[in-house]
Amino acid sequence: MKTKTKLIHGGIPGDPLTGAVSVPVYQVSTYKQEGIGGHKGFEYSRTGNPTRHALEELMKDLEGGKAGFAFSSGMAAITAVIMLFNSGDHVLLTDDVYGGTFRVMTKVLSRFGLEFTFVDTSNLDNIEKEIKPNTKAIYIETPTNPLLKITDIKEVAKLAKSHQLLTIVDNTFSTPYWQHPLELGTDIVLHSATKYLGGHSDVVAGVVVVNSEQLASDLHFVQNSTGGVLGPQDSWLLIRGIKTLGVRMEEHEANTKAIVNFLNNHPAVKKVYYPGLETHPNHDIAKKQTSGFGGMVSFDVGSEENADKLLNHVKYFTLAESLGAVESLISVPAKMTHASIPKDRREELGITDGLVRISVGLEDVDDLIEDLKNALTK
Ligand SMILES: *Cc1c(COP(=O)(O)O)cnc(C)c1O
Repeated sequence: MKTKTKLIHGGIPGDPLTGAVSVPVYQVSTYKQEGIGGHKGFEYSRTGNPTRHALEELMKDLEGGKAGFAFSSGMAAITAVIMLFNSGDHVLLTDDVYGGTFRVMTKVLSRFGLEFTFVDTSNLDNIEKEIKPNTKAIYIETPTNPLLKITDIKEVAKLAKSHQLLTIVDNTFSTPYWQHPLELGTDIVLHSATKYLGGHSDVVAGVVVVNSEQLASDLHFVQNSTGGVLGPQDSWLLIRGIKTLGVRMEEHEANTKAIVNFLNNHPAVKKVYYPGLETHPNHDIAKKQTSGFGGMVSFDVGSEENADKLLNHVKYFTLAESLGAVESLISVPAKMTHASIPKDRREELGITDGLVRISVGLEDVDDLIEDLKNALTK
């Protein structure tokens, strides 16, 4: 089955009981038992709920794994995955991971005796140097936010295997429409489903897919024990969003290509960050491991003042955090998502005060380009 078909026919499509073509919202907490333990596969909705189960089966199929798990947010999903480890274990992570990931590792999970090291995983040599006797996993995000850095998933998985480590991939930016980390040899893939999977800025959710029965059983134990599960209504919204993921991603990318081309030729734009550009340092790796470059672009307009002017004059780009939805969004990472990083460290990473990030939506691209053109000449 091809991906576009899987988006619609994967998992558990519809309802065999009634013939409903959409999975019903099972708004229920508990299930009648015909005698003790005599249930139909569901006992209590923290442990399992039919609507959530349909979403989890769909995500399992899309990522090509053994089991899927839906959580109440991307952060709940990430936290549950790290709870697979024990006090004293060490995890290596991409240095410019999502800000919330950095925060939960360094400010919350570190309090329970877990150790974390952040390295630039776009260069493999950096990773091997940091592997310690207690290292248990390598956690990568690719492409990253906001500089769209690329890590070679297959090579990291190979390195991890040779040291008996798990490889975990945050696949939020690429989605299973473009990128399949489990097929490249990794063990766990996770998402903030709040972004492209949901796609309509109306649901906060997280998803994990694992590649072995052991990890499936361990993660189900954590999910059921800690309880950060996704509710039935939100599970249904996600299934609905995922059905159109293919057409949305194709259109996000087509719009983005045109915008990147426009930005690249605009005199007010100093630098454009997009993995689809041949000048991107890891363009070849991106081309090898994904079938699309996505809808996120960052560009440098030279100063905080210029960035402010741009933000104040765009009409169709909404100033907001988050990404991956139908509406185009714009943000200045140095002042918003990455404000907690000291300025000199930010500059070192390339996150200057003039860096603007856009999440290209599904509006008519002529309007989007016109909008940027007007705002850039102000
Ligand atoms: C948003 C995001 C998260 C966190 O997900 P929430 O749904 O906001 O909890 C994790 N990773 C990436 C790459 C994200 O963009």
